[in-house]
Amino acid sequence: MYPWGGYCLRARPVYILVGVLLAVIGLSFATMAQSQCPSTCSCLLPGDAKAKGYTSLCGGKQTLCGYDKSRNPMYCYQKPSPTATTKATTTPTTLPVTSCPSACSCLLPADAKAKGLTSLCGGKEILCGYDQYQNRKYCYQVPATATATPAPVLCPSSCSCMDAAGAKQAGYTTYCGNSQAICGYDQYQSPKYCFVIPTATTQGIGAVSTRTPGTLVTPAPPTLPVAAAPGRCTISGNIYRFFHDPHTLRIRVTNLDSGTDSMQDVTPVYSGDLVSHYSYLVLAGCNGNYRIEPVYEPYPGACRWTGTFAPARSSDVHLSGTSETGWDFTYVPEDSRVPDVSVVPNPATPEMDQDVRINIEAVDDSSIVFMAARYEMIFVDGTRRSVDWQELAVTPGIAYRPGDTPPQTGHFTITDDRLARIEVTARVCDSGGNERWGSGTVMFGSCSDRVQNRDELGIDCGGAYCPACRECAWCGEDIVPLLLNGNPDDKIDVVFIPDTSYGGNRDTFIDDVWDAIENGYYANDAISGNRNKFNFYYLDDEADVTAYPACGFTPPLGSCEAFQDATTFADSLAVLHTDNFRDWSSTKCGRRVFSSEPTSYRTFVHESGHSVFGLKDEYCCDSHYSQNNPNPNIWQNETACRNDALTEGWDPDDCDNFCPSGSGNCGAGFWDIDPNICIMTCSQSCDRCGAAGMCQYEQACLRRVNWVFSQFS
Ligand SMILES: [Zn+2]
Repeated sequence: MYPWGGYCLRARPVYILVGVLLAVIGLSFATMAQSQCPSTCSCLLPGDAKAKGYTSLCGGKQTLCGYDKSRNPMYCYQKPSPTATTKATTTPTTLPVTSCPSACSCLLPADAKAKGLTSLCGGKEILCGYDQYQNRKYCYQVPATATATPAPVLCPSSCSCMDAAGAKQAGYTTYCGNSQAICGYDQYQSPKYCFVIPTATTQGIGAVSTRTPGTLVTPAPPTLPVAAAPGRCTISGNIYRFFHDPHTLRIRVTNLDSGTDSMQDVTPVYSGDLVSHYSYLVLAGCNGNYRIEPVYEPYPGACRWTGTFAPARSSDVHLSGTSETGWDFTYVPEDSRVPDVSVVPNPATPEMDQDVRINIEAVDDSSIVFMAARYEMIFVDGTRRSVDWQELAVTPGIAYRPGDTPPQTGHFTITDDRLARIEVTARVCDSGGNERWGSGTVMFGSCSDRVQNRDELGIDCGGAYCPACRECAWCGEDIVPLLLNGNPDDKIDVVFIPDTSYGGNRDTFIDDVWDAIENGYYANDAISGNRNKFNFYYLDDEADVTAYPACGFTPPLGSCEAFQDATTFADSLAVLHTDNFRDWSSTKCGRRVFSSEPTSYRTFVHESGHSVFGLKDEYCCDSHYSQNNPNPNIWQNETACRNDALTEGWDPDDCDNFCPSGSGNCGAGFWDIDPNICIMTCSQSCDRCGAAGMCQYEQACLRRVNWVFSQFS
């Protein structure tokens, strides 16, 4: 049972720069951005509009014109005129205004350009007025042919009145009579022209002609040019301002004479990469009455939108011998406000293995009628698991600030352990059928969980959350840093080495190292209070140690020389072994080495007392004894002990001949002054500190320990 259980050891070294996938998962939407703003306006995301200095909404209201690829809503923004950005904020000019000559129009430069008027009246800038933003208007030469809106002509029966995009879409490539005769305008005042209806029978139509006359058929595929076969005509038109999933839109065509109907898909019409609008084209008998209705088509998982379609002409079409086009519709949404969606984990930065509740919060002016989430879990070992869309129950939430619209929330809880992060994608539908996607990444971990998680560059270091990683230039190939507090000259460098009893199991060994540090070192008051004076490492090869008094040590890395070369900076080397025998501290291969079972916490601290601090044993009688100057913890005679005690303010009568002359290895005898609860007396087999309790360094031991600490920063 280890507090840092399940540690996932990486191959050395640990400072592998792991590129953290902070990028939000690319969401593969169909491109839905559409551009249906008037020519004086641009369809932009609010952020882009701000960045470009487009500060005014087109017509002063929020007109939804499309979505970007992440389904963020775009709106029509007034294009600033070229002078607007420099003049708008200055004092309004008082320059005199002149009215334009009769052959000229007073226009903003942008509007003039949009109308194709490139010549200034008389070749010079005549200031003729201002718009509401104090942008200057000038007189522009109006071509004679454009002085009046041409009266639309009626197209001959062999031709169809279409806008250029619709004609291209339908494969109508030739102007009627080879002249660009305007036959009408769409709702944006874009002209329509007469196009020749192709007469050649094309692929896909042959089959159609065998069907019973009067039955509506669907051309397949719909994007192919379609020609009316003899006795066949077409009805076509565009669907404007429809911003929902086009799979949810179909055209119902009803033969009013027979009562039969059929459904027809719509086809996107592109303007560059963006969908401009949709078109439809249906075949019909050349004489008859039909009703055209755009309708909602249930589609799995799509938001159900609510709105109406305003016909440009009428929903009912009477065919009398010729094809009909221009039966356009404009979508009128019931609700054009798109909800906002955010992913809010609780807690925001969960600890390793902590359960986390994922809240999906949607803010909208109407109610949220559908909410779903999917997520991908990325575990610390790099494995992934995806959880597909699940619908969430939507409940009212609480606004963060008074006056804000309260969010409507759904939630789910993730209880999986060993997670590095979760990538959540959410989607919501409001009651008007407006759909919005949101995403968020939950990063697990802390700077003290001994796992490289979140955006850490090493274990618990680097990235946005944790202190910068320290490079270990002195570590070399065989030493792996575990916890660095500074330069090795300023710190006590303890290197852990696995004994062969680990049998190559590095994961267990690393767990044991942290166990010994946490429950051994950090349970001891003196060491815990100076923990920032230690650097900890491990050596990535096994040694072989045997019991006291033989104190066998077969060095790692194959030889004493290689071992010495790898550990030049080390102050103490701790060989952890899993088998049970009496431990020791000694000098091996020229280095201070000690052995310990990792879970014998008092032994671990006791042997460190020898190896790190140069303390002597305070028990009798089979250790090796000598007075360890300066700041000894045992003395070779009573006088030396009493003098030291008087100097330090200790009670000289506490001096005790713990190792009497002639006993064991006691030689002429040794004295100590610490109580027998001191950890240099009381090691693992002693129960005076409680079964699991840590013993402390007592007065004389503590003096030496603190003297050693005083040499490090
Ligand atoms: Zn000892």
